[in-house]
Amino acid sequence: MVFRSVSRNAGRRWLLLTALAAAIGLLIFAGHRMSENVAVPTGDYIRYVEFDVPATALQRALDVDVRTEGEIDWVDLLSALACRYGGDWSRYQATDLDAIAAEMEGGQSAAENGKYFSYYREAYGAVLDGLLGDFCEQRTDDVGNTVWQHQYGLKAFCPIAKGFAYTESDDFGASRSYGYKRRHLGHDMMGLTGTPIVAVESGTVVMLGWNQYGGWRVGIRSSDGRRYWYYAHLRQDRPYAAGLAEGQQVTAGDVIGYMGRTGYSAEENVSNIVTPHLHIGLELIFDESQFESDNEIWVNLYPLMQLLAKHSCETVRAEDGEYTRKYAFKEGIG
Ligand SMILES: [Zn+2]
Repeated sequence: MVFRSVSRNAGRRWLLLTALAAAIGLLIFAGHRMSENVAVPTGDYIRYVEFDVPATALQRALDVDVRTEGEIDWVDLLSALACRYGGDWSRYQATDLDAIAAEMEGGQSAAENGKYFSYYREAYGAVLDGLLGDFCEQRTDDVGNTVWQHQYGLKAFCPIAKGFAYTESDDFGASRSYGYKRRHLGHDMMGLTGTPIVAVESGTVVMLGWNQYGGWRVGIRSSDGRRYWYYAHLRQDRPYAAGLAEGQQVTAGDVIGYMGRTGYSAEENVSNIVTPHLHIGLELIFDESQFESDNEIWVNLYPLMQLLAKHSCETVRAEDGEYTRKYAFKEGIG
């Protein structure tokens, strides 16, 4: 009897504690929503980014930037819009973007759109800053001379070379079960084995080799250090572009490897994945401690890949089966 009474009291206390914990949890969640979807960093660098700007907004902001030749920065514009929406991009309307662009063209500062502007500018800038700018591409002119053409625009490429078919869907965060239960921290692009894969952005090859999840994979760090591009499940036997090595500099659009289905095997060079596809991931690094830690920030690449679908790199196939880019390309104005 005594035992039962104690037990009942303990049970009641436990119920009370659970209710209290749930209430606190709700308050924290509500606070998070109220702070405009921003997990306010407690240190001096960003620890959380949700990149969910729709592809249509990316394209429209990009067009404004290109039309004004960089006078209206697309990342400023998108950050201003994120402030207006409190981070909720389901509210996106093209007319809102146009209105802010007009205000900025009239001389208004993008930062006047909300107190979280600097957060969005830094977070979105980490994703987008390296993708637009000056570049020169080699072309053959009407009389057969090779000339360098200067342009200002998108200088990042779709990872699937031009003319190769692929399918994709918004699959970021979906659950995966090989090894242990974990979230899908990347984006899958389904195609045929042997499809040439190109570097989205210029940078340094910082990792190359086998991993039991990713199979043959390559990791490329952007020159500003803020982005780490991860390409996985490359082809069995000949995964990489000839000569690709750690430490090497690659240019956006360079062929880096070939689509395959390697991975899900502790044993090297095994194709255990059913459907050939490229797994591409983008990790943001605001502080070096975040790189290869439990606090990695991976972003959803679906909107960005939709944007880049219209900007793919043309390749040519040599007799040995190797693909290389058709037109030489360099960043900058000279
Ligand atoms: Zn994947």
